[in-house]
This record gives sequence, C-alpha cells and structure tokens, in this order.
Amino acid sequence: MSENSYLMELKNVSQVYGSGDRRFTAIKDFNFTLSEGEFAALLGPTGCGKSTLLRIITGLQPPTSGRVLYRGKNLSGVNPHATIVFQTFALFPWLTVQENVEVALRARGVPAKVRSARALDLLDRVGLDGFETAYPRELSGGMLQKVGFARAMAVEPELLCLDEPFSALDVLSAEALRGELLELWTHGKIPTRAILIVTHNIEEAVFMADRIVVMEKDPGRVILDLKVELPHPRQRKHSQFLEVVDRVYAILAGQTQPEHVELGTAPGEPGRTRGLPHITINDLTGMLEHLNDMPAHRADIYRLVDELKINSDYLLSLIEAAELLGFSTIAHGDIYLTVLGETFAEAGILGRKGIFAARIRRLPLFKWLTALLKATDKKQLEWDVVQTALELEFHEEEAERQLDTAIDWGRYAEIISYDDSSQVLYLEPAA
Ligand code: ADP
Ligand code: MG
Repeated sequence: MSENSYLMELKNVSQVYGSGDRRFTAIKDFNFTLSEGEFAALLGPTGCGKSTLLRIITGLQPPTSGRVLYRGKNLSGVNPHATIVFQTFALFPWLTVQENVEVALRARGVPAKVRSARALDLLDRVGLDGFETAYPRELSGGMLQKVGFARAMAVEPELLCLDEPFSALDVLSAEALRGELLELWTHGKIPTRAILIVTHNIEEAVFMADRIVVMEKDPGRVILDLKVELPHPRQRKHSQFLEVVDRVYAILAGQTQPEHVELGTAPGEPGRTRGLPHITINDLTGMLEHLNDMPAHRADIYRLVDELKINSDYLLSLIEAAELLGFSTIAHGDIYLTVLGETFAEAGILGRKGIFAARIRRLPLFKWLTALLKATDKKQLEWDVVQTALELEFHEEEAERQLDTAIDWGRYAEIISYDDSSQVLYLEPAA
C-alpha cells in the first residue's frame, strides 16, 4: 500500500511530559495507521497514553517529536475533519439541547434549516426526543452524554475518535448508543471514514470494532493488533463471537498453554478436574489492586505475605486463582499482573464483573455447572443434587467447599444465584 492510501498515519510519534526530574516519556516511537473503512478499538491500562494519542491524532496537541499525516499530508493544528467524543462532555449551559448540538454546525456556516433538521434527527436517534428545548442542568449525566454524542455526530466527521464514550453511562443507555453508532456506521448513514474508540470493555470492543489494538505502558506501545472478521450485526452469544472474545482475553492474559492443559476437565469427564481455589472475590481484588499499585505491577511473592497481612497458604490460593483467571503470572519468584489483570484492577464494578464472568465461563467446572442448570426445565437445581454430582470428582467435604466457592464466584459474575432458604441454585437469565 502506498503511504497516501492511509486516512491517518502516525510516524515515530513520541510524547514527553513534564520537565527536569519530572520529565517522562508517555509514548515512544509510536507508529500507527488508520485506513478508510476501519473501525478500530484501543485497549490498554490507564496511563498508557490512549487519550494522549487521540489528542495527537486529532491535532489538539502536537507530539514532542514525530509526524502526524492526514490523507498523506502533514497535519498542523487541529484537524477540521476529526472529532473526539469524551467520556464526559462539556455543554454550554446557556444553550438548549438542540442549540448545543447545532453549535458546531453554526460555526461552519450550515444553513439554519439543515442545521435544525440534522440536530432533531440525531436527538431523536439517541433517545432525546422531547428534550430539544431543555437546558443541560435539567438533564441526567447519561442524557448529557447523549447530547455530546449527537453534537459530535452532527458535524459528520471523517475521523471519529471516542474516548471511553460509554463508561459513564448506565448499561441500557450505553447499549442503545452503541447500537446507534453501529447503525450509522455500518449502513453508511454518516460520511465518517474511520472510527477509533478507546475502551476498557473487551466485549464492547469485539462487538463494535473490526480491529483491536492493545497497548502497554511505560512507555506506551502496541502489543497486539488483531482483526475481527465477524459480520455485523454481531450476536454476543454466538459461538464465533465468544471465540474472538476468548482470544482477546487469552492474549491479554498472556495465556500460553492450550485450555484443556491449563484448566483441566469437567467433573465426570476423563482427566483431572481442577478445583477452584477457596478465596473470596474481595481478597482477590485486594491483591490485584495492590499489584497494580506496585512498580511494573510486580512483587516478590514472599513479601506479599507481609504487605497483604495474610498467611502464606491463603496467599498461594489467591495467586492460584489469579493465574487460573489469567490476571497474573509468576516468573523467578515474582508475581506480576497480565494486561488483563491490569484492566481488571482499573475497571469499575460493572467492568470487573464482566471480565470476571468472561473468565469463569471458560472454567470446566462452571461450564459443567451451567450446562447442568440449563438442562433442567426451570433452570434450577437443589444444592444436594449438585454436591452429589461433584462427589464424582472430589471427596465429600471438598465437594461442598467447591460448591460454596462456585456459588460465591458465580453470584459475583451474575451467572448463578442461590437461595439460602430453599437451598436451590438458579441460572441467571443473562448467563
Ligand atoms: P490514558 O488515556 O491511556 O489513561 P493518558 O494519555 O491520559 O493515558 O496519559 C498518559 C501518561 O501521560 C499518564 O502517565 C499521564 O499522567 C500523563 N499525562 C497525560 N497528560 C499529561 C499532561 N498534560 N501533562 C503531564 N502529564 C500528562
Ligand atoms: Mg484516558
């Protein structure tokens, strides 16, 4: 491909912040391209330079060194063909919702009629029909974000950059906006030529993007660039969708062994069933947050006993759980976080639950348990029945503990629920 066929190109871009002792390199020798027709998702831990990159790409900030090309030409100053949607949007408080959407069009000299028609159409699409004349102070956070989204779309940017646009929204609003954006994009209803979205949400990335770029930090760099070749609209429960999600997770988790070697077999199947380590989610989260705060996300295992104030047997169980889930690995007596572990540690509560759910769904014990529940009429089973089945693999007491732990994890992931009084396990509708 010739150089000029890229819509946007970064060449050896570096960004240095601060000065003197505080001087540090946020991004180093970064090379990156976006072609027309590409919808790319950028994943990576906080501080790896994602927001910096978006500002550089759109010309809001010149890099310390390196070149930014747009349609093959050096970019200087703000790129008029590009727009960023931020996680939280600053609207003009003295303008109505509709006026806020129209403001950028007005600046570009779009006639009033066209302006107003486009604004009303977009407000309708994002579910703000009826709020055209409201003022920002009258709207909830989710609604403000929708206005910001409509404003960004109104200028019909060629290059649309989104910086965690859905993470401040409630689940339903986020899903609705994702659907809107995909609809506009896949049906060619907007003149946008390329989209780059920053997200912490792996399913969101696989749901929307055709390319997933994963970064690491210190200094910010690309560690994975993966094409997602699934047709739209994508089905989240479809096996091919789940395969891609698993692949991204596996890479983020640094998984090197085939799954059946790493995870063992299901109860009742030939081979050894790997039991769940008996730990609480709280303690696991605490350890991951602690590691995330350490330099290079790494710690001496023996020092963790002191630092976390737990006994060494329990620490080993925590480490085993973190490894089983792909959140950490061990080398030379050190434990360190995988990119997935960092992502988990930095995600909010819903993000964490989503990652946790995706990870335990691949454990043979959970696959077996959910299949067992699914096979029943009411998607429910009595505790005793499951325990007896588990005794095929574990002795009585351990079978009981396995089930306790599985319920604890399954509840957190919102895959399984359990009613203590009737001693019945249920499959959650979303599982
Ligand atoms: P991300 O969006 O991936 O979290 P950022 O691009 O916001 O990363 O930041 C990358 C690194 O650069 C972080 O360590 C951050 O603290 C630092 N940084 C970002 N903007 C500035 C700035 N204007 N001045 C100094 N440091 C900054
Ligand atoms: Mg950021």
